[in-house]
Amino acid sequence: MLDIASVAELLEQPRRIVITTHHKPDGDALGSSLGLYNYLIQKGHHAKVIVPSDYPDFLSWMPGNEEVIIYTDHIQTAETLIEEAELIFCLDFNTLSRINEMGERVRNSHAVKIMIDHHLDPEDFDDFRYWDINACATAQLVYVFIADALNNKALINKDVATCLYAGIMTDSASFRLPKTTAEVHIIAAELINAGAVNWRIHELVYNSSSENRLRFLGHCLSNKLEVLNEYNTAIIAVTKEEMQRFHTETGDTEGVVNYALSIANIRLAAFIVERTDEVKLSLRSKGDFPANEICKKYFSGGGHRNAAGGRSDQPLNEVVEQFKSILPSYKKLLIQ
Ligand code: 5GP
Ligand code: MN
Repeated sequence: MLDIASVAELLEQPRRIVITTHHKPDGDALGSSLGLYNYLIQKGHHAKVIVPSDYPDFLSWMPGNEEVIIYTDHIQTAETLIEEAELIFCLDFNTLSRINEMGERVRNSHAVKIMIDHHLDPEDFDDFRYWDINACATAQLVYVFIADALNNKALINKDVATCLYAGIMTDSASFRLPKTTAEVHIIAAELINAGAVNWRIHELVYNSSSENRLRFLGHCLSNKLEVLNEYNTAIIAVTKEEMQRFHTETGDTEGVVNYALSIANIRLAAFIVERTDEVKLSLRSKGDFPANEICKKYFSGGGHRNAAGGRSDQPLNEVVEQFKSILPSYKKLLIQ
């Protein structure tokens, strides 16, 4: 493991740098990556953000977005960049399986690997780790990394601030989740001072739905919501056919699960969706209910206590039944 002084020294000279983040990047994945990108280019580095998959329109506006390389669309370019990189930053994930086929390329690369992340159970593939599970967002850690660890607060310009604000805002669910500490608000204030236009960022992320997305949400809430009062659990399960019928696009399912969780007595909510090659589960919980435990134990996934995800190769209806069959063993925690 390197120490921060060695990392700072490495970054003193222009380097070839790759920044990558997890499959289906969310606001924090992109915000932290592009925030770091906009910082590194000011230092004269040749930096590129490479993401394993596409991402929704409501995240496609951040400064530097047009420079992002989607691995599956430009495999050759991406692999050359990874191969030639001197440093690789891995942001908002901590196991290489989260970046799909890119994972092995990154593992085999000779670059110095720096992990900046706030998820549990990191895999041991990095050379330097800026990791804190108490951070509400990776973007928060990137802020502290630049401002405090590298002592470069002056380089947090409008572009850096805009991306980092977007990351913190989305991962804290608009400054609502328990990890939104006073420090997070202070950092948000610093970012606004540095040029982030907070109200505009909220507009761009939350008020930019397509009509299809809203109609799909309406369908989920009117026709698909199943409330299991005995277990204080709500489930929304959606088939591939329904996804097609509502012309859903990447990102349209984002946040649907939160509506299920917003019912007063509900402690656990699941959004279960049939994708082309697998069934994907998104779990959300209130209080100390460990949604990540269910994902890790039964659905080859993981995540945070209150927001976790997983997958299954079984048919949708069987996954729903399996999920329901797990609930009795958690009944005590669910009906507290
Ligand atoms: P989402 O429901 O939005 O897909 O995921 C919620 C959170 O669960 C993510 O922020 C991520 O931390 C975690 N997560 C989702 N899918 C996986 C997965 O397959 N593996 C792991 N380890 N975590 C996941
Ligand atoms: Mn995050």
